[in-house]
Amino acid sequence: MANNGNANGNVWQFKGNTATSDAAAVALRKLVFKMFRNYNLNSGKPILAPSPGDPSASPSFLTCPVAEEAVAAAARSGMANSYAPSPGILKARRAVADYLNGELPAKLKEEDVYITGGCNQAIEIVIDSLAGNSVANILLPRPGYPHYDARALYSCLEVRKYDLLPQKDWEIDLDGLEAAADENTVAMVLINPNNPCGNVYSYDHLNKVAEIARKLGIVVISDEVYKHVVYGDRPFIPMGIFASIAPVITLGSISKGWVVPGWRIGWIAMNDPNSILKSTGVIQAIEDCLDLTPQPSLILQEALPDILEKTPKEFFDKKIKAMRHSVEFSCERLKDIPCLFCPKKPESCSYLWVKLDTSMLVNIKNDFEFCMKLVSKEATQFNGSIANLQ
Ligand SMILES: *Cc1c(COP(=O)(O)O)cnc(C)c1O
Repeated sequence: MANNGNANGNVWQFKGNTATSDAAAVALRKLVFKMFRNYNLNSGKPILAPSPGDPSASPSFLTCPVAEEAVAAAARSGMANSYAPSPGILKARRAVADYLNGELPAKLKEEDVYITGGCNQAIEIVIDSLAGNSVANILLPRPGYPHYDARALYSCLEVRKYDLLPQKDWEIDLDGLEAAADENTVAMVLINPNNPCGNVYSYDHLNKVAEIARKLGIVVISDEVYKHVVYGDRPFIPMGIFASIAPVITLGSISKGWVVPGWRIGWIAMNDPNSILKSTGVIQAIEDCLDLTPQPSLILQEALPDILEKTPKEFFDKKIKAMRHSVEFSCERLKDIPCLFCPKKPESCSYLWVKLDTSMLVNIKNDFEFCMKLVSKEATQFNGSIANLQ
């Protein structure tokens, strides 16, 4: 009463929803910016920006002029000023289907693709469309991408973790994956190319994952947002190849490949050759969720076909070369830092995932404390326990 009373002695009947703060507490953005509040403005040291997975600020990672032109042309055309239909405009959906189809045995049609406000919104929609059963759970990788944890928490979907094994090139602990599941498990999330570990999965490994998903009766959510950021020798294999074994929902966007995370355009692709996602109502749930949320910018939807179809291969090649060089350089320099150890040189994505040996450090108990002190003393940043490696 004391807190809620207003000047007239009335009681305010509302208060903030704590479910949002619980979910946001595990979101990457919240943690990164919290860390950066530790930065001492008077230290005189330049800040290395708090930009998780976002190299767009660096002059070495500019987007390609074809993409910029496509967006400018769409804006000027006068054809992109209205609301878009909830699932996205057909030409954008068709362009994404064509873009993904190259490697797929069961081809996607335009109606199998939904356009979203980046991959993060795709995650939200897919999680929401699978939640609703109060005892359901979802299997997430550890280490992983925290937006899945945050959104599952927010949608009351229980999170269970399966491990990625550093000693086995960050392959999935397949026995652990199976052991974590039960009759209430609805889905597993696979991140490939794998952020934050920086590996890509082999054909055989993905095949085994599909077999396990089939045995468990779950859908595989394959986050392929880093598809174009592979600079090692092993090629990227899309999970959709195995959709005849178990249904696969592929998530993607242009954020990472084209270095434009601020443009907010991505997609959900339903690899469902046996119509399982349809008969279980998941497709309907996704369409319903899309009706409840704002449509991504029509300008970007209009531009998407040109972006996907006309970007020259040289653009990606140049970026890959720069990434490879950065990784070589960082791994080399890391050898001189005794408390940091990199279990595997990354071959994809934009993180370098290292192990911290706290026994070598004074007054630092864990990786989070290390990161906090690093920000305050050196104005740089590691995203340690943020990705759930505790
Ligand atoms: C960056 C990232 C996303 C979010 O991508 P947006 O298109 O910018 O929303 C999703 N998944 C993973 C694994 C990411 O690294």
